[in-house]
Amino acid sequence: MFTATNPLPLTVPTVVGESATSFASRLARRNGVPRMITFCSDVGIDYFALVNGGPVEIQRLAVLGGIDPVPLQAATPSLVEPGWFRLGKERIKFTGFIRTTLRVCPRCVHEAPDRTGIVHHGAWQLAAIRTCAKHGCHLVAAPKPKNGNDCFDHVPMLDSFKPTGGDLAVSQNMELERYLTERIQNGPGQTWLDRLPLHIAAQTCEMFGALLTLGPRVKRTEPTDAQWAAAGTAGLSILRGGPDALRQKLKDIQDSHPVGEKLYRSHYGVFFDWLRSRDDDPDFDVVRDVVREFIFENFPVTVGSIVLGKPCPEQLVHSFSTAKQVFGIPHHRLGQKLVTLGIAKPHASDRFYTLTRYIPTVLLIDIIAELGARISAKEAAKVIGVETVVLARLAHHGLIPKQSEYGKRSTIYRPEDLEAFLEQLRGLAKPAGAIKDLIDISTAARRRGVTIAALTKLILAHRIPLYFEGFSAEDFRAFRVHPSSLNGIYRRPQEPVVSSWSVARLLKISRPTVYRLRQAGFLTPPTKRKSAGIRSGKYSCRKSFEDFQAAHISLNELIERSGRSADDEFNHRISNGALPLPLGLQSTMIFRRNDVD
Ligand SMILES: [Zn+2]
Repeated sequence: MFTATNPLPLTVPTVVGESATSFASRLARRNGVPRMITFCSDVGIDYFALVNGGPVEIQRLAVLGGIDPVPLQAATPSLVEPGWFRLGKERIKFTGFIRTTLRVCPRCVHEAPDRTGIVHHGAWQLAAIRTCAKHGCHLVAAPKPKNGNDCFDHVPMLDSFKPTGGDLAVSQNMELERYLTERIQNGPGQTWLDRLPLHIAAQTCEMFGALLTLGPRVKRTEPTDAQWAAAGTAGLSILRGGPDALRQKLKDIQDSHPVGEKLYRSHYGVFFDWLRSRDDDPDFDVVRDVVREFIFENFPVTVGSIVLGKPCPEQLVHSFSTAKQVFGIPHHRLGQKLVTLGIAKPHASDRFYTLTRYIPTVLLIDIIAELGARISAKEAAKVIGVETVVLARLAHHGLIPKQSEYGKRSTIYRPEDLEAFLEQLRGLAKPAGAIKDLIDISTAARRRGVTIAALTKLILAHRIPLYFEGFSAEDFRAFRVHPSSLNGIYRRPQEPVVSSWSVARLLKISRPTVYRLRQAGFLTPPTKRKSAGIRSGKYSCRKSFEDFQAAHISLNELIERSGRSADDEFNHRISNGALPLPLGLQSTMIFRRNDVD
């Protein structure tokens, strides 16, 4: 390879910041060569290596131009590994550059005495550098050259293009460019933002700033350079504070919206969509992770929902709709409770509530435990598989705890209590198999003249074996009991009773007389057996009947024994000093055996 040792006869002066391609383009024009690519070929420089800042080519170019290669190299984006360039003291990803469109400073162009005097700066290849540091005006894009390879060859391109405009940038909006320039000249510092790759830092500042200054709905293609500069500066002012400041600002934005079903997408629009669109670049993960975690912590994202490429591992806050979706707790019931906690406000209708902030899951779980899962007696009876009156009796016997809701008279139940009740029974139960003559609990209760609840209580107390058909006992109706297993479970033997009809027949008295006997205390009502049929007055204790029968005899029995007429028998007894029991004139007459025997 031809080695340059001397400068060309015709050279141009350079300035710090000029790129190697700019210097080559001017040197080519100075030496009368129309295209840089031809000039490079003529002087033995690999054009494409020069475009990518190859040190050998830059060294050679510097010798030909009679200048110091070190600043030339520093100002030229140099490929250091696939996809990454070095510029100054920064290592920058190719996505941070605009290298297919030439942008120039209109004032630099106008002030130059001739084409060869127009310098192009290496930093102008960076997308986030939008102004000329010397003139403070925004760069202007030149039309693309016919041949794409010539897009670094600015001198011929400016033969036909006279840039106009060159609006002055607002100095206080230049903070991001000053920050980036500082990083390129002196290398990044130690802050969180400094440790982000330059293209991430630059784009994050601009996109977050666009959200801050232009709102969530702005399109990325809309802002002008001046707006981008303002946005970048606004973003930088927050992001200099690191992830905490970013989170705080995200929170401020969230808090500026009414709490509702609208989610992060509508709050962070342009910023969020941009982060999503950059999911091919893992370097953005640092920022994405902060934003994603913030969203998981502050928005009602359900478990498994994908946010910025990752599924939500745990839902930390809830809206009314996710509370309903996940826990099944209805809006109005949760709303009532949240109003007392100051987290929701009721509307005039009193059936609709709005949140003042999202509901932390831990709080929601407490609320659910307290009231959310309580269900009505009707629902509870259905769960257990009994009539509501039976449920009420079971509760009355203390087998199922009752709950009451503030301000409501109706009784409600907790599903876990219902389940615990069934579990107690299941603990006594096994498959019926070949066992015969099993009956369900309600049949057993009916046969024994006790309530279902009372029998159930006894079954549990005495651990009476239960059975079920099939594989499991779904609800109360599924349990079976063997009648013999209930024998002798009462603390006292079953109290024998006798019906009024039997008493009337055995004593040969009228039914009304039986009732008078009960009223008068000769027959006593059953005390142990409580079922409605037994207590309704149609039964008496067999013991009291037997005692009564042993001591008394009716007039009809005396007639049967003597064969006298009723009147004769009565007169006979009265005449012998016997008096009938004082049961009233309508009653069959009854005498004491002691008086008549
Ligand atoms: Zn300028």
